[in-house]
Amino acid sequence: MKTIGIIGGMSFESTIEYYRIINEEINKRLGSLHSAKMLIESYDFDEIEKLQSSEDWDNLAKILTYSAQKLEKIGANYIAIATNTMHLVADEVQKNINIPLIHIAVATSNYIKAKNIDTVALFGTKYTMTKPFYKDKLKDFGINVIIPNPKEQETINNIIYNELCIGIIKESSKNKLYDIIQNCETKGAKGVVLGCTELPNIIKQADIKIKIIDTTKVHSLEIVNKMLG
Ligand code: GLU
Repeated sequence: MKTIGIIGGMSFESTIEYYRIINEEINKRLGSLHSAKMLIESYDFDEIEKLQSSEDWDNLAKILTYSAQKLEKIGANYIAIATNTMHLVADEVQKNINIPLIHIAVATSNYIKAKNIDTVALFGTKYTMTKPFYKDKLKDFGINVIIPNPKEQETINNIIYNELCIGIIKESSKNKLYDIIQNCETKGAKGVVLGCTELPNIIKQADIKIKIIDTTKVHSLEIVNKMLG
């Protein structure tokens, strides 16, 4: 088994899920008392969010690169950034390390293609929904991407940062998200990419018609595939 280096704490609510899914999957595949060889660099998300909102992506790239290099030095064979948003600096991080970075949008695109879904709605932070780094990756794989309208984007973004990143799950927010999913379905979405690693904590497949693409799970399972070669 190879060692995964996780850059997490963005937020801790979803890093917990990565830790759980990866360990459970390793145990499922290897049996007995097996668990994941994992190194985790976990940030104080308040510091990260302040840099995000001031659009200081250069500094964020430096911080994540420093962590990736540190994880590589102490034995990681692969790096994974446990958030969609911070993949905005993934290429920069990859350029400065000698081990592969397991990209969340690549894993997600491969999953969508394997499920034969041609058009998806993309839910995530305002950065993920509006900047090209994520939707362009999906489009490179020939996937059509529907972005919620600006008012819907604001609703999703606020729910992520004000509630989900600190473990708050509100029924009223769940209903708002389900209404937006329905609007996207009317516009032709056959699936919805939960392109924020906390969204699977509130949006459940049992409640909606179109296919959920849970990026936390898809990314975690791809990490296990790589770890076990
Ligand atoms: N975890 C979230 C994501 O997947 C949002 C938090 C962040 O800004 O990193 O995008």
